[in-house]
Amino acid sequence: MSVLRINISNLSEGTHHRFLEASPEEIGLDSRFLKRISLRATIEKGNRQLFLHAEFKSGGIFTCDRCLDEFEKEIVGSYRLLYVTDEAGAVGMDEEEVQVISPEANHIDLDEDIRQYAILAIPQKVLCRDDCAGLCTTCGKNLNHGRCSCSRADADPRWENLKKYLDN
Ligand SMILES: [Zn+2]
Ligand SMILES: [Zn+2]
Repeated sequence: MSVLRINISNLSEGTHHRFLEASPEEIGLDSRFLKRISLRATIEKGNRQLFLHAEFKSGGIFTCDRCLDEFEKEIVGSYRLLYVTDEAGAVGMDEEEVQVISPEANHIDLDEDIRQYAILAIPQKVLCRDDCAGLCTTCGKNLNHGRCSCSRADADPRWENLKKYLDN
């Protein structure tokens, strides 16, 4: 059974809001996610369709792709999905934006969608900060923590500028 489940059996037509929470494990997210998932769902109920706008927030400990340090990062995301009771109601819509449900369905389950969108919300390249200086390719020192003593030719130009600044 889905933890992030919204009861739609007695939903009147119009706009509804639901606030739901789940732990990362409950919806199958990996151990990088540590913070509870908080979900704000806006539902617009129509006669034969239901439009969902889901906004979620979580966070966890991620490893920087450049300097390999672990750091805390907030993960936020959102998506829209149209639930229809028959496919004819979804003509012209992108397949990924439509889900067909039974006219008798009394709930919608969001665990799997939230799990997938939470993973998609992790950037392709995870950086501890935009200007992460990375590791020295020669000695492996984390250059965010200070300069290393490798030859100047190999040094990161950004740290060269900093050195000039400090030398003045
Ligand atoms: Zn980094
Ligand atoms: Zn070095």
